[in-house]
Amino acid sequence: MNQEQVIDHLRASEALLEGHFELSSGNHSDRYFQCARVLQFPQRAAALAQALADRAEEFNGGPALDAVVGPAMGAVVWSYAVASAFGCPSLFTERFNGEMTLRRGFRLERGARVLMVEDVLTTGGSAREAMAALKSTGVEFVGVGAIVNRTGGNPYKDLGLPLIALCDVDVQMWEPGECPLCAAGEKAVKPGSRTAAAEA
Ligand code: ZN
Repeated sequence: MNQEQVIDHLRASEALLEGHFELSSGNHSDRYFQCARVLQFPQRAAALAQALADRAEEFNGGPALDAVVGPAMGAVVWSYAVASAFGCPSLFTERFNGEMTLRRGFRLERGARVLMVEDVLTTGGSAREAMAALKSTGVEFVGVGAIVNRTGGNPYKDLGLPLIALCDVDVQMWEPGECPLCAAGEKAVKPGSRTAAAEA
């Protein structure tokens, strides 16, 4: 699947909205992602997961995997879809008392080859936090797999990890007073309120 086909899945499911948006931060943007909307369709989720599996040669040390791990909530379904494509277990980390941690009796073997996944990488911070939380388990991370990379690069370079993203998308953001779309007289839409979908 090429990048255009990935974007088609996102547009068709309204996981990618294009226009003029007011974000929960108060900033305005020209695009808005809510990957839960594409992942609500099992066939689309499976197709995207397979596209990631097709690139498994790019993982450090080759395609063999022992587990896929994603940070909750955003990556829970994505992790499950990717793990299905690989035929391995899917785990998730979650915040407990403010700290990212592995709970629910999930266990990883020392030396296990783990792919970390995230739906949309905005800064890449939550996958990084999840990897830090798993450090004491002694697993080996083979890379990070994302549906959308908004960072414009690989935020895990310093960790020696490849980033395998199905599409790279640039999102323009402005403070409301500096938004050219407002200046052009276009009204900003709050995507959460219009679609009743919560922002991750
Ligand atoms: Zn605006």
